[in-house]
Amino acid sequence: MLPAPRSKLLTADPKAAYLAAQTDIDAAIKRVMLSGHYILGPELAAFEKEFAAWLGTAGAVGVANGTDAIELALLAAGIGPGDKVVTVANTVTATVAAIGATGAKPVFVDIEPGTMLMDLAALESMLSELRDPKIKAIVPVHLYGQAVDLPRLLELAQRHSLLVIEDSAQAHGSTVGGKKAGTFGSLAAFSFYPTKNLGAFGDAGAVAGSDPALVEKVRLLRQYGWRKRYVSDLPGRNSRLDEIQAAILRVRLARLDAETAARDRLARQYLGALKNSPLSLPVVAEGRSHCWHQFVVRSPKRDELKAHLETKGIGCGILYPVPVHRQPAYHDASLSLPHTEQACAEVLSLPLHPGLSDEDVARVVTEVRGFFG
Ligand SMILES: *Cc1c(COP(=O)(O)O)cnc(C)c1O
Repeated sequence: MLPAPRSKLLTADPKAAYLAAQTDIDAAIKRVMLSGHYILGPELAAFEKEFAAWLGTAGAVGVANGTDAIELALLAAGIGPGDKVVTVANTVTATVAAIGATGAKPVFVDIEPGTMLMDLAALESMLSELRDPKIKAIVPVHLYGQAVDLPRLLELAQRHSLLVIEDSAQAHGSTVGGKKAGTFGSLAAFSFYPTKNLGAFGDAGAVAGSDPALVEKVRLLRQYGWRKRYVSDLPGRNSRLDEIQAAILRVRLARLDAETAARDRLARQYLGALKNSPLSLPVVAEGRSHCWHQFVVRSPKRDELKAHLETKGIGCGILYPVPVHRQPAYHDASLSLPHTEQACAEVLSLPLHPGLSDEDVARVVTEVRGFFG
């Protein structure tokens, strides 16, 4: 008898997340459908409360997606035309698009070669060198599931009188000194895109914060600037999170800590089994916990390794193949970010999500070792 064909391993698997909680998700969807209330109802109000409590902050506002969350957080904090906002170029263009949508201009800083997060020493020298009063805010990106050194960033931001708005789209539950990412900045933006650690089955996002006035401002901005129905206090717009997605997110939030623990166990298995391979493994800084949104290795032979793994039925991701300052829409030939550019040429995400088994990870490890021979 032939052995059963082995299933393809995916870097992320939203369908597996659905199947793992199918009874509860189906019940949540049905509850909303029968309620007759589909927008800004009790499910969203409950999710916002539960998410803020889980995060350990005063409030959260559900919005249409993660990109809107970044933009609305910046707008609520007072960023707009004429301002400049510092961020990194090894991110999804959404971060940069959101800055641009406020009317502000993005300014890129290079990354640390190890963690591949914003290089705070480079940021400090850039700020001291430029002394540009138009620079008003910093958007750190907590890439792959590890947060930037937020206490150090806040201290630096304070010295230069800059706002910090966290891009926490990949950092649901990551901590620095035991405190969750998304609770340090003036506001933080989350995405619940289906493949994120906390994912909806459609588009969704949230802004969280500890200052009730700022959080309230985001709440107004997400629906036409209304404090009272039909009366706009602010020039807002529509960026609502619907009741079905909110009800689903409540189910998934209740499972998130267990899923993060499962990710952590699989990541440790990779780290142990790949220790003596030619790959560079993820660097987790002292005092920080990683939520393993992505398990990212590095190799100068990245493209060949990816092709090899794919012939073996192992899906791999590249986050991100082209840094933002090298993409047509944002191209800046005068800018050189050597660590960012090198990272983009070498990074590879191996499959890692709570639907994988120890055997799946062992299979990936065997094929990686097979590639290097
Ligand atoms: C996913 C993501 C976003 C954008 O979120 P959307 O919900 O897709 O708009 C922004 N920043 C980072 C780092 C992300 O990973």
